[in-house]
Amino acid sequence: MTRILIVEDEESYREPLVYQLTREGYAVSAAATGEEGWELFTRGGIDMVLLDVMLPGIGGVELCRRIREQSRVAIIMVTAKGAEIDKVVGLEIGADDYVTKPYSFRELLARIRAVMRRNPEESEQEESEQEDVELQCGDIVMSVGHHQVTVRGENVFFPLKEFDLLEYLMQNKGRVMTRHQLIDRVWGSDYVGDTKTLDVHVKRLRSKIEENASVHRYLTTVRGLGYKIDDPE
Ligand code: CA
Repeated sequence: MTRILIVEDEESYREPLVYQLTREGYAVSAAATGEEGWELFTRGGIDMVLLDVMLPGIGGVELCRRIREQSRVAIIMVTAKGAEIDKVVGLEIGADDYVTKPYSFRELLARIRAVMRRNPEESEQEESEQEDVELQCGDIVMSVGHHQVTVRGENVFFPLKEFDLLEYLMQNKGRVMTRHQLIDRVWGSDYVGDTKTLDVHVKRLRSKIEENASVHRYLTTVRGLGYKIDDPE
């Protein structure tokens, strides 16, 4: 059974979550402060952490960092509406995904399931049974099943959405993918958020795959259309 740790100081979010996630068949632990969350985490057995960014005491960003220092457990950050900086920081410190308050339980559940499917610790056996798909573009090599990417021989970590975006682009190497296609595929056809999210993710991909982030040898913008990834000349 998947054990989820909820770290959330607002009771009006925490209590319904405990109830709803338990009803969905998850084992749920809940903490109201970062300190309490850390204590519950260090007892072990946690498969996924749902982590509010704004917490009294140890904040969500600091707690995420601490957890990442010793674990690859799945982490979904919960940010306040419009707090773009929190999203970016959350992904930089190794969170797998984030949701923005107010979110629907259905949306959260979809993200939890997606993250758990990708969590190598949780699905190790499943993965070793299926043949791994390897995608290559120049010096970028992606092992889809193992959720691993090497860039010029170095292992580089990509959070869930960045990984999905890179995977989709690499599957379609040499073809222009429209903004609509990319958003549809990575964020879902019912995505209603800011389309700048795509550009932010493209920028983050470039900072990881391009030798010089301002020279787009791999990931090029096709003006008025979308983006394309290709082997560098
Ligand atoms: Ca809070």
